[in-house]
Amino acid sequence: MNARANTNHAPAVSVVIPVYNEEGNLKALWDELKPVLDGLGAPCEAVFVDDGSSDRSPEILADLHARNPEVTVVRFARNFGQQMANTAGLRFARGKAVIIMDADLQTPAEHIPEFLAKLREGCDIVYGVRERIPGPLYRRIGTRIANRFICAMTGFEIPDSASGFLALDRALVERVNRYNDRSRYLSGLFAWLSYGRYGAIPVTRRQRFSGESKYTFHQLVRIVLTFVYSFSVRPLRLILAAGAAVLALSAAAFAWAGAVHLGLAPGASGPAWLTAGMLTIAGFQLSALGAAGVYTAEVYAGVRERPSYVIWEALGWDGTP
Ligand code: UDP
Ligand code: MG
Repeated sequence: MNARANTNHAPAVSVVIPVYNEEGNLKALWDELKPVLDGLGAPCEAVFVDDGSSDRSPEILADLHARNPEVTVVRFARNFGQQMANTAGLRFARGKAVIIMDADLQTPAEHIPEFLAKLREGCDIVYGVRERIPGPLYRRIGTRIANRFICAMTGFEIPDSASGFLALDRALVERVNRYNDRSRYLSGLFAWLSYGRYGAIPVTRRQRFSGESKYTFHQLVRIVLTFVYSFSVRPLRLILAAGAAVLALSAAAFAWAGAVHLGLAPGASGPAWLTAGMLTIAGFQLSALGAAGVYTAEVYAGVRERPSYVIWEALGWDGTP
């Protein structure tokens, strides 16, 4: 899947760019990216993955490809999400170093040489850490809380798990390309497969050049949860521990009720307390069931082994996917 037929002249650098309805950004992006790539003085390629855009992005990308031999365009049959677009991009990229960046100019191309320099120092992954996150307040705060939560729950040390701007060396890309789970969250997979020699560089994050963010609040919450249950069973363990604590509590409550019954303790017993206690226990049981269900659903999705995405066409790609 990841072997391009023509690997004789593998480029030094590949840039992978997921695209979903970015018609207003693509030209400005290329105008900014191209001089940076030319300035590197080494053969480069750009792999655009069109994630089922319904605007003019496919035409603009086809035109970019027609005019620039270093542009590859992979087009999905429909929208599979940014993670899948990046997944496909990594499989089509042949570069010794691979940069992932956004199509909306939030990730300034001028940082690319810094990423490459850091990779040359021997890192297998370099994270672009956003100094300031533009956008609505809930995203700015939520992003930081989510990153802490993800690191605590998975035990990974990821400087900025959602920056969307990073660089990988070839060996790590090859390892990532071997995996095929559907609910993948790439920065978790990168951390998991990295030799731990990660680097981080501060990057500026600009406002989106044109159009709107493709993410709703609900989707962002889902991404964080997917990340956690894809890489950790800690939620299950936590719920087990909480369940044990509730059981211990109910044992104490029984002792207390017995004492009241025998007149050894003041008698403020009440069905209300009983109901509350039962509800607590029922609540924990339900959440335990829910957590188990989530993992079971993952296993189910895994054993079905459906492909993670469907490719419609690939421009500038000379092998068989
Ligand atoms: N994107 C994608 N598929 C999607 C959603 C987003 O390929 O389903 C791309 C999008 O075109 C952009 C990048 O992923 O290049 C980041 O998306 P966006 O700018 O909407 O996210 P934000 O910057 O708000 O985190
Ligand atoms: Mg963006």
